[in-house]
Amino acid sequence: AAKAAGKGCFRFFAPEMHEAARERQLMESDLRVALEKGQLRVVYQPQVDASSEEVTGFEALIRWDHPEHGPVSPAVFIPLAEEIRLIDEIGEWVLRTACAEAANWPPHISVAVNLSPIQFKSPALTSTVRMVLGDTGLPAKRLELEITEGVFLSNDDHVHDMIRALKDIGIKLALDDFGTGYSSLSYLQRVPFDKIKIDRSFVNGASDPESRNAALIRAMVGLASDLKMRTIAEGVETPEELQLVRDLGCPLVQGYIFGKPMPAEEALELAKKGAATLPAQLPPREPRI
Ligand code: C2E
Ligand code: MG
Ligand code: MG
Ligand code: MG
Repeated sequence: AAKAAGKGCFRFFAPEMHEAARERQLMESDLRVALEKGQLRVVYQPQVDASSEEVTGFEALIRWDHPEHGPVSPAVFIPLAEEIRLIDEIGEWVLRTACAEAANWPPHISVAVNLSPIQFKSPALTSTVRMVLGDTGLPAKRLELEITEGVFLSNDDHVHDMIRALKDIGIKLALDDFGTGYSSLSYLQRVPFDKIKIDRSFVNGASDPESRNAALIRAMVGLASDLKMRTIAEGVETPEELQLVRDLGCPLVQGYIFGKPMPAEEALELAKKGAATLPAQLPPREPRI
């Protein structure tokens, strides 16, 4: 009977699946509304020079506070936006918001914006980037675009043409989540990345003497530096992790130890102040009345 019912018949699904599918559909339309009504936000996480502890830039990260469900993780709604092809619009909005914000920062401070592999496939990307830079007045060299290894899954010339075209604009390019994807080291040699982001999964717990992650981090830092690329350790949370990545020669650090992603106003304040402050050293907050 199930077979005879054919495609598109949900009769044989468990009720929970009905529920999940319905939930998803609602989420999709809510996401469109969120974009239209300005319910999305961008927060900024400091990137810090490992030795001087000066802020060198910020990564822009999108946030969605759902009116009923509360905060929804970008790890959940970005894939959804990719599926329903809303990612180009959302991505352009993030880019524009982040560049407009970064134009207020001191001129040595950069902004990093995440790109979905889907955006990367769109031929309009380079003209969008050019237009946003022109409109916001942010110099190209202060914009860094983060792409993941997923971009190289489609092994065509388009990827390399796109990278060339973006580099020609004068922006920086970072390889995000390095080591977690479908790594083939050959693209490191072929692609002119400015920065390699060592994924949090290598950093967390790396200071444990039992952990073999230190050896992996050392190898990644060495490889990148031989190729004249800088490395940034993601997700550094503890003083031990900070000490370790420093000792392994990693020049840049990003993680809760120097600051969680923060609203634009706080990022501006920190950017002007320059040096990041360890959370433990922050003065106690005024009690709220
Ligand atoms: P990502 O680009 O690798 O961003 C780093 C993630 O690690 C962020 O999560 C950040 O909040 C988190 N993080 C930073 N430091 C620490 C730490 O010390 N400990 C821990 N536990 N986590 C830390 P978030 O903001 O939830 O973003 C998750 C992912 O969603 C991002 O990973 C990125 O892939 C994607 N994403 C976020 N914003 C955007 C966007 O505007 N466009 C696109 N295409 N993707 C985005
Ligand atoms: Mg990123
Ligand atoms: Mg990352
Ligand atoms: Mg990640």
